[in-house]
Amino acid sequence: MSLSPNVPNVHEAEPIPEAARDAIDALLQSGDLFRYTAPQNAPVTLLEAEFAKLIGSKFALAVSSCSAALFLSIKALGLPRDARVLLPGFTFAAVPSSVLHADCIPVLCEVGDNYRVDLDDFANKLDDNISAVIISHMRGHTSDMDAIMDLCDARDIPVIEDAAHSLGTTWSGRNIGTIGRVGCFSFQSYKMINAGEGGIMITDDADLVARAIIMSGAYEHNWKKHPVLHDAFARWQNKLPLYNLRMNNLSAAVIRPQLPELVRRVRDGLANHDYLAGRLNMSEFLTVPDCLTQEQRAPDSIQFNLVGMDDAEVSTFSAAAEAHGVKVQIFGLSDDNARAFWNWQFISDLPELPKTRAMLMRACDVRLPVRLNRGELDVIADILLGAVSEATRPVRAYGT
Ligand SMILES: *Cc1c(COP(=O)(O)O)cnc(C)c1O
Repeated sequence: MSLSPNVPNVHEAEPIPEAARDAIDALLQSGDLFRYTAPQNAPVTLLEAEFAKLIGSKFALAVSSCSAALFLSIKALGLPRDARVLLPGFTFAAVPSSVLHADCIPVLCEVGDNYRVDLDDFANKLDDNISAVIISHMRGHTSDMDAIMDLCDARDIPVIEDAAHSLGTTWSGRNIGTIGRVGCFSFQSYKMINAGEGGIMITDDADLVARAIIMSGAYEHNWKKHPVLHDAFARWQNKLPLYNLRMNNLSAAVIRPQLPELVRRVRDGLANHDYLAGRLNMSEFLTVPDCLTQEQRAPDSIQFNLVGMDDAEVSTFSAAAEAHGVKVQIFGLSDDNARAFWNWQFISDLPELPKTRAMLMRACDVRLPVRLNRGELDVIADILLGAVSEATRPVRAYGT
């Protein structure tokens, strides 16, 4: 086996726009890195205004990570200790962790082989003991938000959207993250906008964002620097704990010049994804699940299922792809994978989720940075399809 010379490095990020350099230089000059030092126009404050406008929400609060945003969202809902929060059994370990961190109990529901919430199981588990729902749009795959909102609205259960990996995705033309009561996004390096670390939560609920702002660390009267009606804060002054999960100005300076790049990144990411999906779907052994009809995706990775392969063939496939330079992560087969629910042993009474487990044992994950060109996509496709051929080649009987 020879390593193809043109295999793209799928872990290489896109350069940060040049405009970030001047903003960072100015911050280094002034030393003004804390979001609440300047009386106005701190980079974090400007980012919040720009992001809210871009996404179409009333309020935004920038914080240290999406996990912090999820934690603050749960706290800001004011749920009592041990409240049960329903979430998909296919997500990143940090998501159920944020529920535990907020002194609540994660309840997992099944996810289908299209990576989306299994609505039957969701409806079954959405009983009177559930106080809130987090929908993780895992790898940017949107669950049926019409059905989910109908079920949750009927029971007056608040929905938090974990849109960490969904920036730029729309549902019936509406931005993902704006459908539930709160939406949370990530600026970690593997997401559409890269600040190394960072997160932001959005909502139209003034009282909820006021509580989140205070708990994020707007101590004393720093909340006055947020464009939220001051009445909403007066009620909560000195009544909430401060978790200090603020974003610093340097992160905002790295994020802001990337916002205008989003449209291009989404367009290129989707075109790349769909092109590669078209090639992979030619194989009877590979399936890229269709998106839902209301959904317009914004992918920076591709997921596909291995179909009709036994365990040995699956191992041969992944070894062959890796030998040729494309590392395929099969969620359920890599050791200690943080997206496999059985590894979330910090949850007591971890349930078995047979559908989700079956999906995880055949679902493959390949990063697809939006900067890849057709030639590079073809190299990846050729390697994956070649690996399928190696894995599924009929074993010839001796002597024939
Ligand atoms: C990345 C990711 C997170 C965690 O985001 P951080 O900013 O790293 O905390 C949560 N949920 C999903 C679906 C993610 O993709």
